Amino acid sequence: MDDAADILNRIRDVVGSEPKTVPLHAPEFNGNEWSFVKECIDTGWVSSVGSFVDDFERKVAAAAGTRNAVAVVNGTAALEIALRLVGVSPGDEVIVPALTFVATANAVTHIGAVPHFAEATATTLCLDPIALDAHLDQIAEHGPLGLVNRQTGRRIAAIVPMHALGYPVNMERLTELADRRGVAVVEDAAEALGSRFQGRPCGGLGRLGAFSFNGNKIITTGGGGAVTTNDDDLAKRVKHLTTTAKVPHPWAFDHDAPGYNYRLPNLNAALGCAQFEALPARLAEKRALAARYADAFADCKTAEMVHKAEDAGSNFWLNAIRLNEPDRRDHVLSQLNEAGIQARPLWRLMHRLPFHISCPRADLTVAEDLEARVICLPSSAQLGRSA
Ligand SMILES: *Cc1c(COP(=O)(O)O)cnc(C)c1O
Repeated sequence: MDDAADILNRIRDVVGSEPKTVPLHAPEFNGNEWSFVKECIDTGWVSSVGSFVDDFERKVAAAAGTRNAVAVVNGTAALEIALRLVGVSPGDEVIVPALTFVATANAVTHIGAVPHFAEATATTLCLDPIALDAHLDQIAEHGPLGLVNRQTGRRIAAIVPMHALGYPVNMERLTELADRRGVAVVEDAAEALGSRFQGRPCGGLGRLGAFSFNGNKIITTGGGGAVTTNDDDLAKRVKHLTTTAKVPHPWAFDHDAPGYNYRLPNLNAALGCAQFEALPARLAEKRALAARYADAFADCKTAEMVHKAEDAGSNFWLNAIRLNEPDRRDHVLSQLNEAGIQARPLWRLMHRLPFHISCPRADLTVAEDLEARVICLPSSAQLGRSA
């Protein structure tokens, strides 16, 4: 049998023959979404202040295991603010994985800093701390400003590990190498709500964490994000900077910095509060779906699951297979999509995007191999629901 036909059969074994078109990841609204959003409209509290925002922030902080969470307009804004608050400035460099969604790098560029692309591990798809350690040994040295890239003369101001498809980065190794060099860690936990590393929730493992609640994430606010941190002072500054840096006063408009209008509206937070009620069930369904995919691909000759279902810690946001043959990827993708299975490749690697052509980078052999061979499979939680 053709490899694409075989893979299609295995996917259909898991997702069923109906519906004809199976989306990569569909949002679901089966709980209190309608009544919470209606409450905003009925009471007039639709904008960036309201009880749902406060409640949503408490729920995000609880999920991330942090003392604080500040709700913002999206995950990209969350990353940008988090990077600014660890001191990333124009002209600095920030280590980000080459294998990530473009928003991770955009947040760096929007500050006027330069993304510096790091290698992935084949088993996790996440940033490889061992390769990064060796790379920094080679290209960086300590100066009066902190860690400096000897080749560019720029300060390396932060590292942004990204928990790819929900699978946790090895944060123990990463934190150790970052601490040893005095570089701040900002977690891109956009895909990792409910994921854990060594039992501790992702998003609470760096100085600051960033979440996304975009429509394709495990739960959604329509659009939205959050910054998480255990540092109360940093949390206050996140809130201040994202609220136009307005000096608190009952009626005067005074601002002490060129702040941002990045706060999450109460309407979106209302949606998020209802979505949070479904999170525990959704995590269980995702785990069940990953186990079913693992069964379906157990004896496949042309592809294997990237993340093993028994691996503790992942929220299994997206399931993915790795093809044995890299030159079959586009053939398999086009056959699956033609058959209604909305399978997708990973992201185009960051260093290949034309606007990143002059950015510094490590050796990216593994990331390039993954880009050529990995295919993401339909992973909506309802696919893991028992019939
Ligand atoms: C979704 C996502 C973001 C950005 O979130 P938005 O809410 O879309 O701005 C950032 N990083 C990663 C890895 C993502 O998957």
